[in-house]
Amino acid sequence: MRKVETKIQNMDTVTFYWTGHPFVDAGLAAILLIAGKNKPEELNEKDIERAIDFASKLYATKKWSSSFLHGMMMPNNGIILANPGTVGPISTAIKNAIKQEKSLRFSESTKKDLTERISKNFDSLLADEILKFLKPVSENLSNVQTTNIEKFAEKVVKVVLSQPFVTEAIQRKIKNNLLNLFRDASKSNSLDKPSCIICGKRRAYAKKEVYRAIVPLLGSGDVLNYFHSANPHGADICAHCIFLIQFMPLVSYRLPRVLVIHAYPYELMLELSKEALADVRKNRLASRAKDFKRPENFLFHLVGEITRKIERDEFWENASVTLYYFICNNQKQILDVIHIPTQVLRFVAYANLVDQMGWKRIVSMGWKESPDVVNFEKLEREKRRNRIYSRLLNNESILPYFYNPKERKVNAKWNLLAFYCKEVLGLEKESLEFIRDIGDRIVETLEKLPTNKMRRRVREIETAEKNINQFAEFFIRLEKDRQELPLKTPLMSFDEFARILTAYGEDLNISWRIVKNLLLFRIYEKLHDKLIEIEKEEEEIEESIE
Ligand SMILES: [Zn+2]
Repeated sequence: MRKVETKIQNMDTVTFYWTGHPFVDAGLAAILLIAGKNKPEELNEKDIERAIDFASKLYATKKWSSSFLHGMMMPNNGIILANPGTVGPISTAIKNAIKQEKSLRFSESTKKDLTERISKNFDSLLADEILKFLKPVSENLSNVQTTNIEKFAEKVVKVVLSQPFVTEAIQRKIKNNLLNLFRDASKSNSLDKPSCIICGKRRAYAKKEVYRAIVPLLGSGDVLNYFHSANPHGADICAHCIFLIQFMPLVSYRLPRVLVIHAYPYELMLELSKEALADVRKNRLASRAKDFKRPENFLFHLVGEITRKIERDEFWENASVTLYYFICNNQKQILDVIHIPTQVLRFVAYANLVDQMGWKRIVSMGWKESPDVVNFEKLEREKRRNRIYSRLLNNESILPYFYNPKERKVNAKWNLLAFYCKEVLGLEKESLEFIRDIGDRIVETLEKLPTNKMRRRVREIETAEKNINQFAEFFIRLEKDRQELPLKTPLMSFDEFARILTAYGEDLNISWRIVKNLLLFRIYEKLHDKLIEIEKEEEEIEESIE
């Protein structure tokens, strides 16, 4: 077999760099992960060659090109050949030859013609292989009369296209395209072009039209005024950035849509993309994200896994993670951008480290399901939205989910609750300690009350939903109870009473509700067994009356 020369030769070295653009950075992450390196400046030409080899082998297969690359990301991509029409010139060349000769016995001039056509679109190696493949077929068929030449040609084309040498030819072409693009990225480019809108470091690439075929989610090129740069070549993007985007599919997750996780610091981006590339290596297919159907569920699952693996939560200290969840084909373009607040990342990481079971119980309440570990694995893979995750992403409080009011039971440990209050809700440590202290004094009082009275008081704070007066009344009643008990000190001073109502900020509507959630947590944490016992006794009495 002839070897096609595809080595990188004599070029200025290209330095790759992070850009802050999700698709370009994803491509760079893919190349780094393939090379087993951490920094773009460590990459050499061998690494790039290896990445090009790796990508073109996969992209040449139908499983990648049609349903994934063409169907979900970069429709009709002419660089990595995500285009159902890629093999068109091969079919045409073969069909023309058969029609010309009315058989498979080709004359020299027909062979020459076919070779020229195929070489123009692919290479002469493919032409040779096609002719070599058809020769024995033509000998076997020499006695067969072909009445419908059109149908016959159709059949022959189908057989030829399914041969591995065709896939190999596509692979060589993708490889050449990528190498050419890489060479262009390495050259210093003409200064008369505008700067790249992504990296700003290089000039826009002039050799290719830059539409959604090669950069997902851009316009199709049919409506030129879509591009505000008024460039008839599409978006002003440089060869460096276009080159890297072609590798993005390797670290994309394939859920119902495509998920690209963009993260900073870039060490984290590599960590969050690892799983995708590992799956690609293992299955030769795009990663299915462990069968997850919702991007946020998958991300939170990954955060837990990574944190437990590296056993430190400060990894997420200044992390920024954004999910790009999209579909881009010829029929539709949809994009959801989901930003994960840093404090939420830190909280979820911490939860996985200090109280994984507690965290699972809290999250399970977001599906209104009772928590159990086996079920959890199944639930988090469902398409159903989880209320806890949604609230965290929308900066809404999840405090009421730290306990289960039906069972009068806490879901997690106090230290997880404290971390959440401090880091996510922004409650001061001092205020939290103050509320816990008051909570302990309430528990101390409740414990000493006769059971029916204790039950009534707990119910009073539970049902204080409407307004602050209801909430305040609970304290007044409890203070009276306390005076009747052999407890010398009051429940709280007037100053403390005023403070408890505003412990979480001056906005009374928000503040007292948050404090109430915290107090209930403390009550359930300390008195769960007793409260359940009372409830059982009451049920038994009711039953005996009936
Ligand atoms: Zn650029």
